[in-house]
Amino acid sequence: MFFRFFSFIACQLAGGLAGWYATSSTHTATSELVGILAGVVLGGVAWFLLDISRGARLLHWLRVGDASDVALRTGLWGEVSDRTRRLIRAREQMTLESQHRLQDFLSALQASPNGVLLLDAQGQIEWLNQTAALHFGLDAQRDLLQHLGNLVRDPGFARYFARRDYRQGLIMPGRENTATRPVKLSVHLYPYGEGRLLLLSSDITAVEQAEAMRRDFVANVSHEIRTPLTVLAGFVETLQTLPLNDAERERYLALMAQQAGRMQTLVHDLLVLSRLEGSPPPSDAEGIAVPTLMHQLEQDGRALSAVLSPTCEPLHRLVFETSLSGEIMGAPSELLSALGNLVSNAIRYTPSGGQIEVRARLLADDRAEFSVSDTGPGIAPEHIPRLTERFYRVDLSRSRDTGGTGLGLAIVKHVAQRHGAELTIQSTPGKGSVFRIIFPSSRVRLSP
Ligand code: ADP
Repeated sequence: MFFRFFSFIACQLAGGLAGWYATSSTHTATSELVGILAGVVLGGVAWFLLDISRGARLLHWLRVGDASDVALRTGLWGEVSDRTRRLIRAREQMTLESQHRLQDFLSALQASPNGVLLLDAQGQIEWLNQTAALHFGLDAQRDLLQHLGNLVRDPGFARYFARRDYRQGLIMPGRENTATRPVKLSVHLYPYGEGRLLLLSSDITAVEQAEAMRRDFVANVSHEIRTPLTVLAGFVETLQTLPLNDAERERYLALMAQQAGRMQTLVHDLLVLSRLEGSPPPSDAEGIAVPTLMHQLEQDGRALSAVLSPTCEPLHRLVFETSLSGEIMGAPSELLSALGNLVSNAIRYTPSGGQIEVRARLLADDRAEFSVSDTGPGIAPEHIPRLTERFYRVDLSRSRDTGGTGLGLAIVKHVAQRHGAELTIQSTPGKGSVFRIIFPSSRVRLSP
């Protein structure tokens, strides 16, 4: 301010001096005074014009200038220009930070596994993440500012959207929903701001499937237990009400024992399955020698084949061979149970006189293959993908007659998965089946 005042006075002084100098040759005091006064006025006007031009430069810079540099460096306008530049810089910095924060926020919403969609007060799309775009078949760029009701045509959603009561969510079919592959979305609208809406969507297909599987499972278990229980209750009533001779009593008791045994097997298999599902994968610190495993399978297999025979002689030709003398690392009881189930199935489903071969060998890439082949009835191709589902049976009566629970192959699949092994099924109706479990080389320890 002082400089400004000083420069104004200096300009006037300079003007006055110049006026005096210009009129000094006249040697009259009046004209010299007039010259000085005119010089002072002209000096003031010149200062004023200069000042205005500096102010105009500043104004021009404020309108279109580059904020990285100042318009003027000196004087009051210089300071105004410098302070303005700093203010602009600070604002720009704040805007940049806000933009970064907004970008981070949007990236977080973009990474969300749920669909997020923002609607303005007119129901037009303001922003949506990729998951929401996928769920509703929208384009995150093209469909901005489009009315959501025009783009999502599901009647259930249209009613929900129009109702304006969003306390509850909605379950609606997903865009890729088909009769064979149902896709379910859970959708919920939340009002916020002034008439705006936040839409959250999530794909609940897997949850719904798990829930349906749980319901089916409970229904299946109840059904499986109810049948032998009904039979048992019937026999108990007969024993209580009818006078029976010893032979009849023996026969009824044997049938009751058979039904009780069936329930025991079912409960045993259910417990095995739940243990397999609830425990961590077996370590590869322990294992079972392949010859020991094969010996155990052979003993059990021959016993089962003999039990099924009226003469107590094995019903089938059974071949057990191994060219692998190492160990399979994992849980021995699980491995025995899985391979035992395959051998038991082959024996139970192959008619008398059939041949069952159980072989173990090392593959070229150091994986170990166990195969169980039979000359039984075989399985039609459409059943094969579903065989490892719990309680899935191709031949229900044969399964029940031979003490099957419908859980055997589900157990085999679980054990194989837990050991990183692969279960393959090949079958030709009328000719027989081959079930293979192939263990990865990491689960094979070769004999030194
Ligand atoms: P189950 O206890 O009924 O044998 P599994 O899960 O072990 O149950 O097998 C499922 C179904 O697969 C069986 O009910 C049977 O119809 C069919 N199956 C399994 N193994 C064989 C086989 N070796 N030959 C023919 N059918 C088989």
